[in-house]
Amino acid sequence: MGEFELIRRFFAAAPCAQAAEGVALGIGDDCALLQLSPGEQLAVSTDTLVAGVHFPVSPDPFLLGQRALAVAASDLAAMGAEPLAFTLALTLPEAHADWLAAFARGLSQMAQGCGLALVGGDTTRGPLSLTLTVFGRVPAGQALTRGGAQVGDLLCVGGELGDAAGALPLVLGQQQSQGVQADYLLQRYWAPQPQLTLGRLLRGQATAALDISDGLLADCGHIAKASGVALHIEAARLPLSPALQAVAGAAAVDCALAGGDDYVLAFTLAPQRLAALQAAWPACTVIGWVVAGSGVQLLDAAGHIVNPPRAGYQHFGSTGD
Ligand code: ADP
Ligand code: MG
Repeated sequence: MGEFELIRRFFAAAPCAQAAEGVALGIGDDCALLQLSPGEQLAVSTDTLVAGVHFPVSPDPFLLGQRALAVAASDLAAMGAEPLAFTLALTLPEAHADWLAAFARGLSQMAQGCGLALVGGDTTRGPLSLTLTVFGRVPAGQALTRGGAQVGDLLCVGGELGDAAGALPLVLGQQQSQGVQADYLLQRYWAPQPQLTLGRLLRGQATAALDISDGLLADCGHIAKASGVALHIEAARLPLSPALQAVAGAAAVDCALAGGDDYVLAFTLAPQRLAALQAAWPACTVIGWVVAGSGVQLLDAAGHIVNPPRAGYQHFGSTGD
């Protein structure tokens, strides 16, 4: 199977690559063309996933397709953007039809769930890796950035934390665990649900937002730095799933604080906006607040600052910027 047959069979023919609103020209030419309305901005984000770094070396291709798209779409949620389209740069050691068909099915299922159309990409031979670029639209000036947190705001998250980190020993085969709890965690690792609806709800409400990909503490550090404030997080307030508590036991809080791959939104909000947001999004949980200062501090139930566990994941070590 040649490169062009591969693109045609598995990607151009995928359900997610068919005609879609906002896509003036899709796969097949030198560029895709996306249509924006006046007063809209294009939100763009790229994510690369490398075998052995971001997922196990021989992943289930359906699950890999699902997860790759979810990870990329989560950045649109974090900006409050409306999903529009994505491109896929795929590097593969070999072209196996069964593998590609399952991968394209997982990708397409998640893409259709998110409202993202596949409009182009690149296909090369080499060690397995994927680069997805997502495009979304947002009314000009309304995107949620990391930079607006105000002293006195609440710090909130959009759902339960730490499940994917709790699943990691299962994903890597380091821990054997079966049953509904383990299945739930594995589902949270392989098919995270980008919080696109919450992102839209937060437009004009949240003062700062991001999606948690490298761990709560590490990512909240980005809000603190970009906003020029400090964030206080109360460990006892972290929302933990029953499955995580059952499988990870005492390590559940550390999974929530420092584990990666949550793809849950963290955001800051004026206290008077909380009730209306919780009515629309009941999983919204207050985990701390914004104070003057810098960095992220973890507090125990008595309000004392405690030492956090190891920081979130960084690819080239953690010797500062
Ligand atoms: P070019 O030579 O102009 O870079 P290619 O030959 O690489 O174009 O690709 C042909 C068409 O197929 C282009 O429209 C490109 O965007 C699309 N394409 C290539 N690989 C993929 C892929 N993995 N998924 C979706 N579209 C792809
Ligand atoms: Mg090309």
